[in-house]
Amino acid sequence: MAGSDRRVEREALVGSLERNGIRDRAVLDAMAWVPRERFVPEDLAADAYVDRALPIGEGQTVSQPWVVARMTELLEARPDHRVLEVGTGSGYQAAVLARIVRDVVSVERHAPLAERASALLRELGLDNVRVVTGDASAGHAAAAPYDRIIVTAASPGIHGDLAAQLAPGGRIVAPVGTERMQELVVRHSDGREEHHGGVMFVPLLGRAGFRPNGGSERKGGAA
Ligand code: SAH
Repeated sequence: MAGSDRRVEREALVGSLERNGIRDRAVLDAMAWVPRERFVPEDLAADAYVDRALPIGEGQTVSQPWVVARMTELLEARPDHRVLEVGTGSGYQAAVLARIVRDVVSVERHAPLAERASALLRELGLDNVRVVTGDASAGHAAAAPYDRIIVTAASPGIHGDLAAQLAPGGRIVAPVGTERMQELVVRHSDGREEHHGGVMFVPLLGRAGFRPNGGSERKGGAA
């Protein structure tokens, strides 16, 4: 319903995230604020608070809310942090981050998605996010270093150039594996890695992604 307030549905979703193990209050509060229905196509707004990935155009998806919550929690983002997001998509994850940290730089290779996300984030008053159009498979050196880096597309690995853009004491959260299945990896600035269970994301393309020389943009799956 256009114009309806989905706060009740949003709070129910946050309740289900809590029951499913999300503990970080800042993450839950951010997700209780961000209107996910604005980040999905209008005809899917009724499904915005069902815990699943949804198509957003250009063959891409916005991740399932639980995965957004879990990755944000694993990021351990704090109010004074600068964060790089690789794969803006709808801008939903960027909006959640913007409620928690000082600055977000989010890079998207599809210009129409980047433009739509940027306009929506501005409309919501989240003026601490800058959306950049381009290939960030090896990061976005122009605005480095970052306290935290989150990759929201399936990655063959964490590229050295991306890791080099991390500030000391920083961490990267990324889904690493094949195009079909990945594991959530937390990589610390000293090289230590933790693994946090299986996920399915659309593929990271570009220089340090899958099929750097093009090929079809078949979906590897949906987080
Ligand atoms: N975080 C997004 C969902 C990401 S889906 C959200 O909250 O909606 C993954 C996104 O990564 C897609 O939009 C895809 O186009 C983008 N992507 C894939 N490879 C990329 C690259 N090399 N650089 C920047 N963006 C990329």
